[in-house]
Amino acid sequence: MTAPAGPPPIQKVTRFAPSPTGLLHLGHAYAAHYAAHAAGTGGRFLLRLEDIDRGRCRTEFEAALLDDLAWLGLRWEQPVRRQSEHFPDYERGLRGLRDRGLVYPCFCTRAEVQREMAAAAGAPHQTGPDGPIYPGTCRHLTMTERQTRMATGTPFAWRLDMAAARAATGVLTWHDARAGDITATPEIFGDVVIARKDIPTSYHLACTWDDALQGVTTVTRGTDLFQATHIHRLLQALLDLPAPDYDHHPLILGPDGRKFSKRDKAPTLRALREAGHTPDDVIAMANIS
Ligand code: GLU
Repeated sequence: MTAPAGPPPIQKVTRFAPSPTGLLHLGHAYAAHYAAHAAGTGGRFLLRLEDIDRGRCRTEFEAALLDDLAWLGLRWEQPVRRQSEHFPDYERGLRGLRDRGLVYPCFCTRAEVQREMAAAAGAPHQTGPDGPIYPGTCRHLTMTERQTRMATGTPFAWRLDMAAARAATGVLTWHDARAGDITATPEIFGDVVIARKDIPTSYHLACTWDDALQGVTTVTRGTDLFQATHIHRLLQALLDLPAPDYDHHPLILGPDGRKFSKRDKAPTLRALREAGHTPDDVIAMANIS
């Protein structure tokens, strides 16, 4: 006699979501392998190109990253989602927030924001994970002032009215495989930008939207993005999206003890490959087990 069938195992869906702004380095090799491995047997591993910043993303980096990941032996589901092809999706999400009065237009220039922040510096609770918190200048504009500035074509971003957003949601939690159950505290960021002046969305909105749309069950990414999850959890609640599990993995560090980054000329996979290293060498260097 066969044992009664239990509930079908949950099929894990994971993703690696690089931005094609440079060549991949060992840190990316680690993160990509980590995500692919986390999908487990029978799971689905997705690759998503987070290329909303058209000024910084380049098609040659995109081609190089697809090639480097395949060279490493990774295989992912097709089609690859390219965020720059889906701006109308994110605009729908933004509209939902706008209709509920949860975002407001911010006309401040970078210099004005800096000035405002400098003026507010020193006041308690004014610094968040990304630095000084926006003091909320444009939140106080009247509807007429907003309309006038919009009508004159002054560029603006959309910022989340954090107090209103928090009032619209109760206590929110999320689960991280390493850190356990976490209570979301998105207010530490203040009124974050949800759609930029130059781009009709933001990393936070596009990433949260896509993780839900693509049915991602486990978001794996480095601990450098741990705090961003507070915002993503809030957006899930506001946009009525499911909350995936999270697994923020440690970042691999260079010999100097600092994290690898595109900026400080960490060895790229391309350079390692051209120097004659094999995928196995790279896997060993990135401590992938
Ligand atoms: N696109 C982001 C990056 O390259 C990663 C986003 C994520 O994994 O949530 O840093």
